Amino acid sequence: MRLYNTLTRKIEDFAPLNPPIVTFYSCGPTVYDYTHIGHMRTYTNNDLLKRTLIYLGYQVKHVMNTTDVGHLTGDDDTGEDKLEKGAKKTGKTVWDVAKFYTEYFFKTIHALNIIDPDIVCPATKHIDEMIKMIKKLEAKGYTYETKEAIYFDVSKFKNYGKLSGQKLEEKIQKAREEVHIDPEKKHPADFALWFKRVGRFADHTMHWDSPWGDGFPGWHIECSAMSTKYLGQPIDIHSGGVDHIPVHHENEIAQSETANNTQFVRFWFHNNFLMVNNQKMSKSLGNFYTIDDLEKNQIEPLAIRYLFLQTHYRQVMNFTWQSAKAAQNAFNNLKKIILTYKSYKTNKSYMSNKSYKTYFSSFISDDLQIPKALSLMWQMIDDKNLSPQEKLDLIYDFDQVFGLNLKSLKEKKEKIPENIIKLAELRKKYRQEKNFEKSDELRKQIEDLGYTIKDLKNNQYEIKKLT
Ligand SMILES: [Zn+2]
Repeated sequence: MRLYNTLTRKIEDFAPLNPPIVTFYSCGPTVYDYTHIGHMRTYTNNDLLKRTLIYLGYQVKHVMNTTDVGHLTGDDDTGEDKLEKGAKKTGKTVWDVAKFYTEYFFKTIHALNIIDPDIVCPATKHIDEMIKMIKKLEAKGYTYETKEAIYFDVSKFKNYGKLSGQKLEEKIQKAREEVHIDPEKKHPADFALWFKRVGRFADHTMHWDSPWGDGFPGWHIECSAMSTKYLGQPIDIHSGGVDHIPVHHENEIAQSETANNTQFVRFWFHNNFLMVNNQKMSKSLGNFYTIDDLEKNQIEPLAIRYLFLQTHYRQVMNFTWQSAKAAQNAFNNLKKIILTYKSYKTNKSYMSNKSYKTYFSSFISDDLQIPKALSLMWQMIDDKNLSPQEKLDLIYDFDQVFGLNLKSLKEKKEKIPENIIKLAELRKKYRQEKNFEKSDELRKQIEDLGYTIKDLKNNQYEIKKLT
């Protein structure tokens, strides 16, 4: 398999360190607000990577965190705590807020048919591991303490910036815009490993004992501590959004490589942004669409998954309601085709044309060319040399990667409305009385309402909706 690696900025040959197992870490959600369509795309793309690896014969060991503590509104230690902010807004406790939005996240990813990680690790359950790692960094002389926090000293880590290619000077520029600057902080790019429960954090609800006093961890340390615990190092693949590259992932590298004396991650996999109507998602535009918004617009979650398949993960994707509706139509069409194939009821499949599978594998192993693989499926559907059963088998085979849950597709039995059933029952009565004039009249009434009625043995009947 070939995969783009943010670290080298190249598409490289990928093979895991200890085949057939691929160790895979994903930065998970900060559970203080609703999971929106941007997250949906990120986690679907992670899932497409994972399913591709499985399709190609690897076993994926997948770990994902949930940030249920201490993530400030700015990635760079500025702003308020997202959870505390969410709690204030809703009048709930921070713990309730985290629980509610964690459940919403999983409801969303399950609706998208995303395979659960093998291990989901909430930050609040791993405070000990984080403290242990900070102590290690401290012992090695990479930290310093101020009245407010324990910081990682980036000037000591000589490869700082290797992932983003960003120079430290650029970070200084950005840091000038910070809302709050700890006056004792040495370098603007230094980041907090542990916040003390003093000053602006004196009322912080979530807090734990530590060698540096009562407080709570900085955001970045959780991913380093938990990925080390569950996957060891180096990790084969680490994923996240492109917005994580310059701060969060640089910081993860600095912490992990300092603490563990080895490479942290071999392949960095980053998902590009999702725009809505060519604009960035923002509170003021109200375009943080959730699965509930999709449902209100009659868009199935799996149709959105279908929409995501059409854009390569490294491209910026533009979402519009029009494109969502087009995806829903295409998905409906696909489902209809599958149901037709199923109705042929031949069980023989010769797979005479193996080349579709070969093409499919070559597309997905070429840095996840899912859009190409999807159009290959439609080409195959149009191929007159294949039998319906062969096509069905290929669709099911490809869907191991697409994840559209097509194998469990069943013909929906249309629910027959009460008034139609009443008319049919009345008609049954007339037929028993051999009043065929009245029964014919009722048949016509039923048909005028858009249904057909077929008489079966023993005075039974079958009603179907006219299509
Ligand atoms: Zn992370």
